[in-house]
Amino acid sequence: MNRTIVRCQSGALYSSIWIPMVSFKAARLGTSRFQRCPVHKRWERARPVDPSTLTADERAAAERIEDIGIP
Ligand SMILES: [Zn+2]
Repeated sequence: MNRTIVRCQSGALYSSIWIPMVSFKAARLGTSRFQRCPVHKRWERARPVDPSTLTADERAAAERIEDIGIP
């Protein structure tokens, strides 16, 4: 399963199944998605984060938090 690290509108990082309709490069340029945030337990806008901009600790923490996925 391909998971992408995303950041919610409140700033939390988590990993999400992200099935882009466009390339990841294009997604980084502005695609965001409305989905349930597993950190704040509410619907929030999230967008993919370039993992190379994160520290190893941030990446590891984000990978431990996974959303439930698409039902
Ligand atoms: Zn959130």
